[in-house]
Amino acid sequence: MLYISENIQKVKEEIEEVRKRSLTGEPVELITVTKTFDVPIIEQAIDAGIKIIGENKVQELTSKIEQLNDKVIYHMIGNLQSNKVKYIYQDVALIHSLDRLSLAKEIEKRGKSTDDIVHCLVQVNIGKEKTKGGLYREEVLPFVEKMMEFPHIQIDGIMTVAPNTEDIKYLRSCFRNMVSLKEEIEREKFDRINMQYLSMGMSHDFEIAIEEGANMVRIGSKIFGNRDYSK
Ligand SMILES: *Cc1c(COP(=O)(O)O)cnc(C)c1O
Repeated sequence: MLYISENIQKVKEEIEEVRKRSLTGEPVELITVTKTFDVPIIEQAIDAGIKIIGENKVQELTSKIEQLNDKVIYHMIGNLQSNKVKYIYQDVALIHSLDRLSLAKEIEKRGKSTDDIVHCLVQVNIGKEKTKGGLYREEVLPFVEKMMEFPHIQIDGIMTVAPNTEDIKYLRSCFRNMVSLKEEIEREKFDRINMQYLSMGMSHDFEIAIEEGANMVRIGSKIFGNRDYSK
């Protein structure tokens, strides 16, 4: 199954090409999204050089962590129920989906209990879509400020899942809106808040996302092919 390593190579080259012409020229971190794909396939991707995998369901994530251990770094990228924080907070390097106070309280409680700092991105629903998680743009700054009260949460940036649209102009405006939000938060110079990551861009839109300033992209189907959710 050579195709996986070929796809990874191709994705990496495309990322690099876009990065060079992007507004910031910053390095871009690739998060390989492995949801629905089995461990042997993920192992091929690891052999092909990927360093970080993203999963969106707690049970699937913990099962993969059990099997793959420290062969790779794990990110939680999907909606996270508060009662499941305990299963993952010590094993993931980054949670991309912090989007509400109740979840922050639970993460803080768990982090405090074991003296761990939990790294998180604040998820933003930049297109204000009913079906999507994340805070609305105008809610983000006060939320980030509130996080100062939680010493076991480290905010490392913001994340979004952009609207799935053919309207490239609108899509680009959404990504720009994320960049300006990141800059607004940076200007506040909050203690302990380190706006280093802007996680946006997936298989179908990562090029535009990087052009506008994403430095973390989450790519699944472009590497592994289409997902089969019926399994
Ligand atoms: C599935 C998923 C991705 C990857 O989507 P692809 O279109 O397969 O690249 C990225 N981010 C999140 C939050 C996801 O759930």
